[in-house]
Amino acid sequence: MEKRRGTPYKKVLTVLVLLGILTGVLAAVQFFLKDLGISIPFVLPFVRQPVPETASVKVTFVTRYAKCDDVTTTSEEISRDRVESFISTISGEWSAVGKDGSGVQLLRTIDDYCPHHSRTRLIILNRGHVAVYRGTTPDPRFLIKEYPDIRESALEEKCRDLLKKGYLIEDEPALVDEKVRLYLEGIID
Ligand SMILES: [Zn+2]
Repeated sequence: MEKRRGTPYKKVLTVLVLLGILTGVLAAVQFFLKDLGISIPFVLPFVRQPVPETASVKVTFVTRYAKCDDVTTTSEEISRDRVESFISTISGEWSAVGKDGSGVQLLRTIDDYCPHHSRTRLIILNRGHVAVYRGTTPDPRFLIKEYPDIRESALEEKCRDLLKKGYLIEDEPALVDEKVRLYLEGIID
């Protein structure tokens, strides 16, 4: 009985001691590795990391499209010592609007619609007749044209059901409106 009572206690104690040793070993390993720039995520809470000096700067390109007021953003990492020469080589349409230790913001405005509003058209029934919008939603700001002569009641059932939900057309900006024209020709016949 004495031995049986002692055994589970010893097991728990052994596990706790082993866990303690393991944590100590990991912390020690972390301590030596951090000089080499290597870190072990598990031990991070136990060892304070120095904030590393970043070798690169994030350059963010912000394009505003004047006709729809949409904005697109891309970014790339530039080596810190190349930033000044990089900024001097980019096209004059970009202007640097913000610069701090962590990044540079470049802004340009294009007098056109954004890629989304340039490439997509929605043909949909609106107030009993066909209307065509830029983009993928019937947003009144992007109504291109209404066709009061193409009435809902005159359409075939299949076409009417489709245009109630809206029919999307996407293509290159120079081609998409021609596709819309051909589609509308097809449903009038
Ligand atoms: Zn847009």
